[in-house]
Amino acid sequence: MFPHLYSLCLFYVLLFAHLIYPGRCDQHSGKAPSAAGDKLAEPTTVKDLLNSEKQFEKNLEKVDPGFFKHSAAAQHPPFLLFGCSDSRLSEGTLFHTAPGVVFAERNIAAQYYEDDKNGNAVLVYATAHLGVHNIIVMGHYGCGGVAAAVTSTVNSEKDAAKDPIEAWIWPIRDIYLNSKRAEIAALRVKNKKLKTIAAPALNDTGYRALVEENVKANVQRIHKSKAATGYKGQKTSIYGWVYDIATGDIKDLGVTVSFGK
Ligand SMILES: [Zn+2]
Repeated sequence: MFPHLYSLCLFYVLLFAHLIYPGRCDQHSGKAPSAAGDKLAEPTTVKDLLNSEKQFEKNLEKVDPGFFKHSAAAQHPPFLLFGCSDSRLSEGTLFHTAPGVVFAERNIAAQYYEDDKNGNAVLVYATAHLGVHNIIVMGHYGCGGVAAAVTSTVNSEKDAAKDPIEAWIWPIRDIYLNSKRAEIAALRVKNKKLKTIAAPALNDTGYRALVEENVKANVQRIHKSKAATGYKGQKTSIYGWVYDIATGDIKDLGVTVSFGK
């Protein structure tokens, strides 16, 4: 009898928590969000943004006194992230990590190109100077940069070069136009019949496959880069992950490669 009573009480406690935090409950545990137990801030003004940071500072100093003094001495991040600029992919929040853990390069659709000075500077500084030995390329389902590559009408790299966004996403467009992966080919065939191509739905299998293939291509570009092939330091691995904005889950694409000793 008692286990039933306990279950009933737990049900009402969870129901109450869900009413207080609508849409923000942890789907698995039913508890209020964030490991710290606090609802995350969603400031809309600069003033509120600064207040939120102040609160973060106070909380961190409370649970880890002297953190900022220690952190200011040096950084030794174990991870380099190539991620998308999308505001829903804030790495410190997603991985629930303190400042100093993830060295990050974020741009539209989590791209690395051999001729991108910024990407190369980040890559070389992270590996050769900071000693990072885990590189994560993390795309996400629902990526606007990948969707733009599908809806684009530009069909050559030369034409893409005329527009900054088209030029940046051209390699994704190239995958979309030429990939033999069944889901992407099916999306291509479906879109060919349309006069106007709308952005694909979040759960469109072709769109999701293109997000994954884009991540894989970036893992390969980093692996083949001069920065990686000329690297003489410790063994460094490159991982390809996709973050699901609809669930919070991360999918490891199983395309890990390594360089270095
Ligand atoms: Zn994105």
